[in-house]
Amino acid sequence: MKPRRNELAPPSGAMVGPEERREILEKIATAVRGCTRCRLHATRIHAVPGEGPIDAPVFVIGEAPGRDEDASGRPFVGAAGKIFDKGLQAVGLPREETYITNVVKCRPPANRAPKADEIASCRPYLLAQIEAVRPKVAITLGATALRGLLGRPVPFKEARGQAIELGGVLVLPTYHPAAVLYNRRLEVEIRRDLRLAARVLISGRARHIADRHRRDKRSHRVNARRRGPSQGAKRSARRSP
Ligand code: URA
Repeated sequence: MKPRRNELAPPSGAMVGPEERREILEKIATAVRGCTRCRLHATRIHAVPGEGPIDAPVFVIGEAPGRDEDASGRPFVGAAGKIFDKGLQAVGLPREETYITNVVKCRPPANRAPKADEIASCRPYLLAQIEAVRPKVAITLGATALRGLLGRPVPFKEARGQAIELGGVLVLPTYHPAAVLYNRRLEVEIRRDLRLAARVLISGRARHIADRHRRDKRSHRVNARRRGPSQGAKRSARRSP
């Protein structure tokens, strides 16, 4: 599948090690927990910055925390989260190896959809998190997550199941797992999209291994040339007439 290009500024890719990036991620979480940029801070119990390892190859983006997430401060721990976890498991992508967050980090009252200004206020946190984690793949769950990440409206039906390249990260849009509660058939579609993410990771890993192998072979040849003929080769050369 040919990835579609996106005009959004890519993550800077600055040479920062995992320790430093983990610290950056923690700073973002602290900022989110104290954030008052939009009206949602006034009604939240907990802000929900997100969770997962710093080197997660998969970055999952939902819409906004719901009641369970607001109560616990953790993303996707309610009914939608359970559906999503099962989908991840089914395609061999353990949740513990993904970073999971939302476009909006505080629960909208009565679970209404996040408003455009709330999404815009929260977006810098999302982009900074992606820059810190540097995933290979970002899975957006539902139309709001996709629009929130790209910063512009995109026809969801067209984008779903396609890949959009965003500064070196492959964005794979799928349905929001909560939609499965109303339409069971979407579970199959979500799993199909998650399988695509798993395949992208496997082929990326295979390419990475092949590149490393090629590099190793090349440097082995260069070093061998620098060292000159091996002792064995010298010996047999001495013995040759
Ligand atoms: N729905 C979301 O979009 N995010 C969550 O964290 C939970 C439910």
